[in-house]
Amino acid sequence: MSIQTIGVVGAGSMGAGIANLAAMNGFDVILRDIEDRFLDKALSRIDRFMSKSVERGKLTEEQKQAALSHIKTTKNLEDFKEADVVIEAVIEDMELKKEVFSQLDEIVGEDVILATNTSSMSITEIASATKRPERVAGMHFFNPAQLMKLVEVVRGYGTSDETVEELKALSGRLNKEVVEVKKDSPGFIVNRIMIPQFIEAIRLLEEGVATAEDIDKAVKFGLNYPMGPFELQDYAGVDIGFYVMEYFEKEFNDARFAPPLLMKQMMRAGRHGKKTGAGFYNYDK
Ligand code: NAD
Repeated sequence: MSIQTIGVVGAGSMGAGIANLAAMNGFDVILRDIEDRFLDKALSRIDRFMSKSVERGKLTEEQKQAALSHIKTTKNLEDFKEADVVIEAVIEDMELKKEVFSQLDEIVGEDVILATNTSSMSITEIASATKRPERVAGMHFFNPAQLMKLVEVVRGYGTSDETVEELKALSGRLNKEVVEVKKDSPGFIVNRIMIPQFIEAIRLLEEGVATAEDIDKAVKFGLNYPMGPFELQDYAGVDIGFYVMEYFEKEFNDARFAPPLLMKQMMRAGRHGKKTGAGFYNYDK
């Protein structure tokens, strides 16, 4: 099936970024969230991103207006009837994702691929909420989706080869580099490597070995990473890393992945990085 209309469920950081990316690459987008205020926020974030692209000469004002006109927002999942593919980007909660997939399964055409942007969770389990496991896969973008080059296309147990190939081709049309994750394993490739690094960084901080600023500086200049682990978690949302750690601990049955105490306390105190403006930086203030 030729893909022209992309449905995006969830208009938070990732959903807005994916919608923005798709519209700038000529796709029609249907963006769904549960409240108008989330949709309004997403649209203003997209507008801001595109305006910056205009300032930098990467986009003309006409192209910006054309891209914006390709995005339709809705609170009604029934509008996804028109979608040729759906990318889900609601919060990292298995029960919620399954509920969304089971609803989508009843609404979209029977050949439509249902992809999830989950950071860590089982594609096979999400697919079990549908009657089309062969058309369900992971399509994992990175934050911000407009700029980060990678997409991990992840196979669930029942995902068909056609589905994987179609998602790889779609990633190419979105100007992304793509890797195939051949087995449905928690955290896929990138987060499987990154989450243990976050945990060690938090432990170093807890043990008083160095400040958050110096740990970030060490990683940036010593490993040549563009961002340190605390800067990155505060940007992406401390909650995302926390949920992924809890999921790893349960799925791998390994206490090494348990969120460190400091992180648990931050979650209890509502210090969620991007969402509250308070994260690991100045955590002890
Ligand atoms: P977010 O909290 O910023 O946004 C989630 C949005 O989903 C919210 O606006 C919420 O209102 C909405 N939502 C909740 N229930 C919904 C429903 N039934 N229908 C439609 N919308 C609904 O979260 P995020 O950071 O954008 O993460 C979304 C997904 O992407 C998660 O699975 C996360 O693990 C994954 N992810 C996040 C990052 C990151 O750096 N933040 C990177 C890659 C992948």
